[in-house]
Amino acid sequence: MPAPLPAPLPAATWPAHSLPSYLNPAALGSWGDYLQQVDRVIPYLGPLSRWAETLKRPKRILVVDVPIHRDDGRVAHFEGYRVQHNVSRGPGKGGVRFHQEVTLPEVMALAGWMSIKTAAVNLPFGGAKGGVRVDPRTVSTAELERITRRYTSELGLLLGPHKDIPAPDLNTNEQVMAWMMDTYSMNVGVTTTGVVTGKPVDLGGSLGRREATGRGVFTVAVEAARHLGLPIEGARVAVQGFGNVGSVSAKLLAQAGARVVAVQDQDTTLYREAGLDLPALLQHAATNGDIAGYAGAEPISQEAFWDVESDILIPAAMEQQITEARAGRIHTRLVVEGANGPTTPAADDLLAERDILVVPDVIANAGGVTVSYFEWVQDFSSFFWSEDEINQRLVRLMREAFATVWAVAQERQVSLRTATFIVACQRILHTRQLRGLYP
Ligand code: GLU
Repeated sequence: MPAPLPAPLPAATWPAHSLPSYLNPAALGSWGDYLQQVDRVIPYLGPLSRWAETLKRPKRILVVDVPIHRDDGRVAHFEGYRVQHNVSRGPGKGGVRFHQEVTLPEVMALAGWMSIKTAAVNLPFGGAKGGVRVDPRTVSTAELERITRRYTSELGLLLGPHKDIPAPDLNTNEQVMAWMMDTYSMNVGVTTTGVVTGKPVDLGGSLGRREATGRGVFTVAVEAARHLGLPIEGARVAVQGFGNVGSVSAKLLAQAGARVVAVQDQDTTLYREAGLDLPALLQHAATNGDIAGYAGAEPISQEAFWDVESDILIPAAMEQQITEARAGRIHTRLVVEGANGPTTPAADDLLAERDILVVPDVIANAGGVTVSYFEWVQDFSSFFWSEDEINQRLVRLMREAFATVWAVAQERQVSLRTATFIVACQRILHTRQLRGLYP
């Protein structure tokens, strides 16, 4: 009989091994933000905190070289990543982004947030994320296809409908998912629709997936506003980012009677005190590719966006946009994070001090991965649901998840972010403990 195991040490006496050796502490970026968010939740995890180091170390990381022939015959190399942060609760799940500034620590952070997000809404997935360091504006469509296919082949070891399931993210879309699905399927010799989500509807995609993240942002914005006693009718809304998330959130809020006073995309910031005409702006963006040159509003400087007075602010662009300096200037009542990681921990504290409620990314933008889950389920059953059914299920799930974290925030007297991390980390680490270590 082996001797019984000693009782676990309290978490605080365990050595802190939070940085894998391959990381440069000076260039942690969003991964540093993520680690701080995890550290804040550890005191609330009770005995499960003995497993907390799990959350600070991605399970698997693959860095790949992606060589392609340029259209002129030259060979070009791009760097690609896929991080599986945690797969305790199910296959890795998370998008792939194409961006010239993607870094490994950024992808690690995004993968970590996916683990928290899928657990927060109780989907049977872990968290993963991928990226290719490329500016898609500088390559042709044919080159983008070759990058996507080579990247997918290089990840061959990791991907699979029960292993790791990519989806769209920044600068990737349904077409990119179609290429990924086809490449994987050709390599394994069988059409496997469930290996990616966010596919075209004609290829096993789900109705409602394209608008799902924005619809989720809208749903939690309405819930949070209700708790604040803030009517949506007439509420002033400022949205940073006019991609898939920002544009749909803005459209749905405007349809509900809110006044979208400011919108910013990569190069342009528009302001209109009386509220922008969203259908007209969407039409302009669809025709021109962006919001530049739209005549129905006043262009203001990029930085002036943060001085616009609003009731609801939706950062729906990139990480680390609400810095401490900006958090001191923002005039709003409610921040709903459409983007992943838009608020730094120091800014988060300042917003809380200033009594500005923040609905964190890991719940606010979970609508996308929720409908990804619906898509994955539909692919397996080869039985497809109506758009109404999907939207209803999405709204129900988002409201339930929001109500759960709201209650925890009230009970523990913590921010909604910490409350969401408490709910999610308990779920992840409980599974971790049940499964145990093997080998
Ligand atoms: N890229 C989205 C996110 O950050 C969706 C991920 C997915 O559907 O797997 O949540």
